[in-house]
Amino acid sequence: MKLLSPLKGWVAPLDEVSDAVFAGRMLGEGVAIDPISDVLVAPCEAEVISIARTGHAVTLRTDEGAALLIHIGLDTVALDGAGFEACVEAGARVKAGDPLIRFDLDRLARCARSLITPVLVTNPDVFRIVTHRLDCEIDAGDVLMEVIAIGGAVQTDVAMGERLDRDVVLGFPHGLHARPAARVAALAKPFAADIAVLAGDVRADAKSPIALMTLGAGSGTVLTLSARGGDAAAALEVLGAFLASDGGEASEPKSKLMAAPPPRPEARDGALSGVCAAPGRAVGPTFLYRRDEVSISSESRGSAYEAAALDAALAQVKSEIASPAASGQGAEIMVAHLALLEDEALLSAARQDIAEGKSAGVAWREVLDARAAALSALPDPRLRERAGDLDDLKRRVLIALGGEARTPEVPAGVILLADDLLPSELLALSGRIKGLCTAAGGPSSHVAIIAASQGLPALAAAGEGVLATADGTLAVLDASGGRLLLDPPADVLALERLEEQRSLAARAAATAAAVEPARLKSGERIEVFANLGGVADTQAALGNGAEGCGLLRSEFLFMDRPDPPSEDEQRAAYQAIADALGGRPLIVRTLDIGGDKPVAYLPLPKEENPALGLRGVRTSLWRPDLLRTQLCAILRVRPFGLCKIMVPMVASLNELIAVREMLEAEKAALGVTDRIELGVMIETPAAAVTARAIAKVADFLSIGTNDLTQYALAMDRGNPLVAAGIDALHPAVLRLIALTCEGAQAEGKPVGVCGALASEPLAAAALVGLGVTALSATPTMIPELKARLRGLTLKDCRHAASTALAAGSAGEARAHLAVFAEGSAAEPPEAVAEAAR
Ligand code: PEP
Ligand code: MG
Repeated sequence: MKLLSPLKGWVAPLDEVSDAVFAGRMLGEGVAIDPISDVLVAPCEAEVISIARTGHAVTLRTDEGAALLIHIGLDTVALDGAGFEACVEAGARVKAGDPLIRFDLDRLARCARSLITPVLVTNPDVFRIVTHRLDCEIDAGDVLMEVIAIGGAVQTDVAMGERLDRDVVLGFPHGLHARPAARVAALAKPFAADIAVLAGDVRADAKSPIALMTLGAGSGTVLTLSARGGDAAAALEVLGAFLASDGGEASEPKSKLMAAPPPRPEARDGALSGVCAAPGRAVGPTFLYRRDEVSISSESRGSAYEAAALDAALAQVKSEIASPAASGQGAEIMVAHLALLEDEALLSAARQDIAEGKSAGVAWREVLDARAAALSALPDPRLRERAGDLDDLKRRVLIALGGEARTPEVPAGVILLADDLLPSELLALSGRIKGLCTAAGGPSSHVAIIAASQGLPALAAAGEGVLATADGTLAVLDASGGRLLLDPPADVLALERLEEQRSLAARAAATAAAVEPARLKSGERIEVFANLGGVADTQAALGNGAEGCGLLRSEFLFMDRPDPPSEDEQRAAYQAIADALGGRPLIVRTLDIGGDKPVAYLPLPKEENPALGLRGVRTSLWRPDLLRTQLCAILRVRPFGLCKIMVPMVASLNELIAVREMLEAEKAALGVTDRIELGVMIETPAAAVTARAIAKVADFLSIGTNDLTQYALAMDRGNPLVAAGIDALHPAVLRLIALTCEGAQAEGKPVGVCGALASEPLAAAALVGLGVTALSATPTMIPELKARLRGLTLKDCRHAASTALAAGSAGEARAHLAVFAEGSAAEPPEAVAEAAR
């Protein structure tokens, strides 16, 4: 079905609409038009469902059932009808091109916040926009978009029970117009109860913004809330309180809206953009972490004295690091710091400078600065981000040498802003802050890893604007969405706070049930494993409900050291993890080094494109001695068979066959006849499209969505300049995942996902729907993932998968999955309501 443009003007993406309700697709999918004509015309043959009393918005339904909303300008409800003239009434039939609303363009340009006019399909789960115009001029009557029906909406089962009613006087100063209607619906959706809002004898589903708008309820209208189902009482309480409030709109006086409009084009709502370093959201006041330079004495008191002072300071820092303040990933990073403090090259350079007459402080600072500068100049962002570790050690040793520095007093519950944070600083703030946003930094720094392991939302590379933010500014940190919203409108803030409360309660309920298996509502079991870097992570992973380890990144054992670990050393490390897992499976990924993850003892030829060079299995086959030693170490872990082997970066079947042959040879040499599973990571598009051939030889497949996305989209996963485009929900990546699942299923082999997409609860339904039977995730995400899976049926998952596959972009897929997730709340609502109280 073709929809014609209802206006002449410029077509812009919804993301450019400076209103979270429209830009966030809370009312539906579509585009926005910046109008230069003054008559809004019908985009197709349709029935007028409602026309706002104030004449600023109209809803239509096409004969096929697509629901449309056209909303002229932003906040134009506040004009109370001034400048608008409705040409039709609710119930009227219109043809394409019929006038719907006439409006005074000049007046609106002067009085409204913006003229930008969203044109939306409000039932995108049933009707999908397949093509639309964008970033171009358009005439009224030109084709604007094409929409197709994609199937029925998902129905959720509602446990019946007594119907509860409650009357409430609508407090919203401008009535139940589009934006508050969207917020009411967003609040209603997490509840399982069937909830209706009645104005007189007109009834609307509280979960449908459009239905709510059609009530035409003005401020002061007596509404009846009516709910039935398990959590009806809690729903009435939450919705009743919100409907009776001012919905955050009282803080936007009409006089302000009538004042001179802000310059156009629109600014982006005071949001700072960055790269997600650890997912999640948080709301709170900001606090800028200001770190002083450590002041040190530059005068040498003699080389013997200074050398002894340095040794004493190093010993002090080592003992501080060795004290068990950190656990899990934090502890591992501190172990790496310990190793750096024992780096002979570093120490002898500092001692040399001391012998040449520098003070211990100056020598240490200069040597560490030089190393950090060298790291910062490397092309690999992961290595560049290690410069922060050297800064951390520089600072700690300088303080131990008597250098003076003030440690900022960080108030509890803040969103911490910083230029860049050091790993030890973040560990010291553990449990005190709600989120972190840095001007610099990156997604693979140790700070990012620590934040993710603590479940702390973190945004990196958000730019200088971070440092210009006044302390105490209220902010919404949407790390997953890559944004920090500063000083958002009161209604956005209120909604975020409610959402924060809801997700804390949901998290508490999910954590309580974390160790239970994850079974879909339709009975299928989905295994949920943890991604581990070493034994230190294991206890936390089990506490979060991990059913084993789906990805041990064994390369951590090989990095930051002068020579490769021996077979015995490796066996001991794998055995320790297997023991800690207490009989649960352990998938050891063979070395994923080389290329962009260099190690000192493996001099690789210089490569123009390291990400496309010797990496993963290619390095292992190039240096078969390393792989052979690793395979032998794994084969010696007991009980036998618990450890499985997984090969990274496979691009062709031959590589797998070569590893299998080597494995069989080592088994024979050790006299092992029992079977050990050998799996393959699907991380290259080549492996995905030939998955069936690979699955014939492999015992299992596991999709590494991080690299699969990087190689499918030709976007460097560590490059902040393209970070915004790297999204594993891109339709191309989803198709590769689907191909992998088809290949595995055809050969009767299991397929899991161990890349970062597996840690996204939003994506779980689509992955399972595509055929994935196991997820291996960041430990802190496991409870939420399991809770999410328990709320789904296989049919839901297949529906989510086909909707995501059919999406035109990753953003569209995310929007569909978010709507879908709201419609199939995972957590038991009683528990949520209980925890929220
Ligand atoms: C992946 O690429 O998705 C993956 C899990 O491997 P890594 O992130 O360690 O490269
Ligand atoms: Mg990878």
